[in-house]
Amino acid sequence: MSTLFTKIINREIPASIVYETDKVIAFNDINPQAPVHILVVPKKEIPTLNDIERKDCEYLMEMYDAVKQITKDLNVAEDGYRIITNCNSHGGQEVYHLHFHILAGEHLGPMRS
Ligand code: 5GP
Repeated sequence: MSTLFTKIINREIPASIVYETDKVIAFNDINPQAPVHILVVPKKEIPTLNDIERKDCEYLMEMYDAVKQITKDLNVAEDGYRIITNCNSHGGQEVYHLHFHILAGEHLGPMRS
């Protein structure tokens, strides 16, 4: 069964898509935690950070390329932003398809424990 994010990739579920290549998609989070809250997702169902393999390195590089391009396009690169990946239950992961959260658009302050 496909993940929620694969359903977004396949246009089975609508999303506000801001960036897309053959390996990566990025869209606005449905429940934003900052003025800018975008999810960057590989077009491969890697469930968690623990499951990343060396052969996935092109997907990871493209995820970072996406972050650089999106933050530049939104004019938040210079002020700064935060990238988060939650892993498994203690990390608060809800969707088991690897993703970066890009949070930006305000001073985010220190990380919560
Ligand atoms: P996680 O907790 O797995 O790190 O993050 C999952 C994120 O997906 C959450 O921030 C949540 O708001 C977001 N999300 C859940 N369902 C949807 C959806 O249907 N559309 C979009 N755009 N985001 C979603």
